[in-house]
Amino acid sequence: MTTNRQIILKDYVKGFPKESDMILKTSAIDLKVPADGGAAVLLKNLYLSCDPYMRLRMGGIHDSFYYTSSFTPGQPIVGLGVGRIVDSSHPEFEKGELVWGMTKWEDYTLIQSVGSLFKITNTAVPLSYYTGILGMPGVTAYFGFFEFCAPKEGESVFISAASGAVGQLVGQFAKSKGCYVVGSAGSEEKVDLLKNKFDFDDAFNYKEETDFNVALKRCFPKGIDIYFENTGGKMLDAVLLNMKMKGRIAVCGMISQYNREEPEGVRNLFQMVAKRIRMEGFIVFDHYHKYNEFSDKVQSLLKQGKISYVEDITEGLENAPSALIKLFHGANVGKQVVAVARE
Ligand code: NAP
Repeated sequence: MTTNRQIILKDYVKGFPKESDMILKTSAIDLKVPADGGAAVLLKNLYLSCDPYMRLRMGGIHDSFYYTSSFTPGQPIVGLGVGRIVDSSHPEFEKGELVWGMTKWEDYTLIQSVGSLFKITNTAVPLSYYTGILGMPGVTAYFGFFEFCAPKEGESVFISAASGAVGQLVGQFAKSKGCYVVGSAGSEEKVDLLKNKFDFDDAFNYKEETDFNVALKRCFPKGIDIYFENTGGKMLDAVLLNMKMKGRIAVCGMISQYNREEPEGVRNLFQMVAKRIRMEGFIVFDHYHKYNEFSDKVQSLLKQGKISYVEDITEGLENAPSALIKLFHGANVGKQVVAVARE
């Protein structure tokens, strides 16, 4: 038997999540798929991904309100990660293979629905990249931008939460398409990253702006063609006032709303009528069947050094709760990852 540490959700969360909403529990595990476990794999978790949608799963809100079920209090947190298979009774997976997909916040996880696992074949890049640029946030940025925004060369693109896992990639995809790209982020350090590492044309610290409408007019005197929406709230209202005729808004997420008891209202929606704006939401898992198309493209960009990527790695499963909480205070710089075990 081997020790298996787990991060357990204590109870449903109200407001901003706190470290004390999660506890570390230790139990013992046999590193074998149980004989009655069906076709399953036992994973040693190496990296865990901290993602904003996890807050929605902590809330205990009825499933139909969102697109995913709530976590179960008393059970380990569920999330994306990278791991090595230590035992398998599934014909398509072998002991020793590396995978990314849905796992749990613990050292070892028995996975009985292997449908959400992707095999990792390229190990020339850091394995943590499969929680970000080569994983779920990468697929989100790629299809969210190229399919939903339908960009054309020379168009103006605005991205909120621009330095994060998704935003930093959307901005670079937009630059590769010949767009004029501006991002907003919550600190001077992040603004500097946007301009000097990710090659955005301009960026602003939204926490220092008293009027988002004024900030957007300064950056986009002729208006915005494409808005990649990551935050919602007051930024969305200000963007609507600054969209161009026939503009597109890809609604990826609304992190400014996830900790609120009541969502904020949006006041300027009539701009959609006046300017013939198309606004469309999307969910990444509807696009996983195109993973190979995305992966070939982004692996090639990485190999050629044509894309930059910043991640924020927290060491140790025991520090996973504090790492997750960072997202909701803007304390992460780049993709937030937890390193559980390094090989
Ligand atoms: P991230 O940007 O790496 O981390 C979250 C960032 O959001 C924080 O660092 C913070 O940056 C910003 N933020 C937090 N609270 C905020 C607030 N009240 N107002 C404005 N900004 C706030 O996260 P990510 O993984 O790239 O996710 C970005 C968005 O994409 C989220 O809305 C997420 O839910 C969404 N998403 C959607 C899909 C999908 O399938 N549709 C898939 C993945 C992600 P600052 O310092 O800049 O404030």
